[in-house]
Amino acid sequence: MFTELFTRKTPVHVRDVYLYNTESKKKEVFTPLNDKEVKMYSCGPTVYDYAHIGNLRSYVFADIVKRVLIRNGYPVNHTINLTDFGHLTSDGDEGEDKMMKGLKRDGLPVTLDSMRQLSTRYIKAFENDIDELRIIHPASWARASDYIKKQISLIKTLEEKGFTYETSDGLYFDISQFPKYGRLGKINLKKLKSGARVEVNSEKKHPADFAVWKKGKLGWDSRWGKGFPGWHIECSAMAMDTLGKQIDIHTGGIDHIPVHHNAEIAQSEAVTGKTFAKYWIHNAFLSIDKTKISKSLGNTITMRNLMDRGFTGDDYRYWLLTAHYRSPIDFSWEALTSAKQALFRLKRYVYEDFKQKTATPSIEYLEKFDDRIADDFDTPGAIAVLWEMIKDSKLDDKTKCGTLMSMDEVLDIGLSDNLQEGTRSLGVIAVDDLSEEIQALIDEREVARIARNWDVADILREKIKLKGYELEDTAHGPKVTKANTE
Ligand code: AMP
Ligand code: ZN
Repeated sequence: MFTELFTRKTPVHVRDVYLYNTESKKKEVFTPLNDKEVKMYSCGPTVYDYAHIGNLRSYVFADIVKRVLIRNGYPVNHTINLTDFGHLTSDGDEGEDKMMKGLKRDGLPVTLDSMRQLSTRYIKAFENDIDELRIIHPASWARASDYIKKQISLIKTLEEKGFTYETSDGLYFDISQFPKYGRLGKINLKKLKSGARVEVNSEKKHPADFAVWKKGKLGWDSRWGKGFPGWHIECSAMAMDTLGKQIDIHTGGIDHIPVHHNAEIAQSEAVTGKTFAKYWIHNAFLSIDKTKISKSLGNTITMRNLMDRGFTGDDYRYWLLTAHYRSPIDFSWEALTSAKQALFRLKRYVYEDFKQKTATPSIEYLEKFDDRIADDFDTPGAIAVLWEMIKDSKLDDKTKCGTLMSMDEVLDIGLSDNLQEGTRSLGVIAVDDLSEEIQALIDEREVARIARNWDVADILREKIKLKGYELEDTAHGPKVTKANTE
């Protein structure tokens, strides 16, 4: 097993880390289950499409949790799962399945092989997003279809222990056998029961019972017939396989609390008889122009979309970190533009003014910064300390730069790139020997881009490509390079 270790380059006093536990509804001091490593599991994306910027908030948040723990002396063993096959239903055991939607959309046949093909495509795209956002890769990327046997074996144990019942369409977890069901809250079992008339599946004993196996024409063979494991079981199986029966921290977005995480607890604890996760932490949602992100509303924004408009992963990461993870945030291009300008100023200090020359960091400011960020990952508080330090006329440039470098070990917003890279990312990249025709096309495209006329901008980018040049939007304007014609 691989455990990530991290060498702290600058002197920071380790301190207690506090986190808000969804289960106790309190801020608690973090104490690990063992002193070797912290076991952390994050619910990953369903890889049927590009991740949207709301999904990415979850992984930037998990990255900060991990870095803060590492900085304070805890090695972290981290798993993120990838949901790469469907469950024949939506996440709530009804409606249309996301993978099926993805297959239809991309014109692929409904087979296990094409699900694998489809998900491979979006896993690659997701990993690109992760890299663009400087998120440290987990020790394990757990792909659900690689863990079918483990899932079946967990389901068998649940059945043998009497926690399930079979219906015509699957095998269900019987919540009446697990009295502590719903411990994380956000679910009203009594109300659900009284509204049971609207329940689509009349064979279920309680509306909150959930599928651990779904029968179907497609899928894997099992003693309950051909089909798919239920969605929730994959997380229990992969967390236990990669990390063990008990984990320290489980992360995810707040939408997972009522059904998915309550179900994960029930299944895992029914099998092991032990507490599954010690701390449950959840990020609040991101909306766009005050509207929920939804495919049907067509308001989805991806990392690629941000980059097409000239923003970088650093800009988005910085903007996300200026809000606390438990506060809902509303995305707007204006807000992201302001964040980009602020980050640009910071990078300018580091690369142009300070020329990245460092001295021992200011312990006073680092202590304040680390106090803030170890207090339930208060990134806005920590960033406020950063700016206070920059503006402090009593500190010399080298001390400021050294302090920024240390802060960037946690924030990782691009202040520690090598000097050349950093300086380059600040300036507009000019290509002198461009013909007037190409220059005119680039200018025309820039006008379209600023006017957010994306269709026209894309057509112009293609035209430029046909003339033998690649055009890439960088943080500070379009960068043009000769296309590789070899
Ligand atoms: P999914 O692919 O739907 O399972 O989502 C992947 C991760 O993104 C999960 O942790 C979700 O809770 C989280 N998530 C989904 N939508 C949003 C949103 N709008 N804002 C923040 N997190 C989200
Ligand atoms: Zn999960």
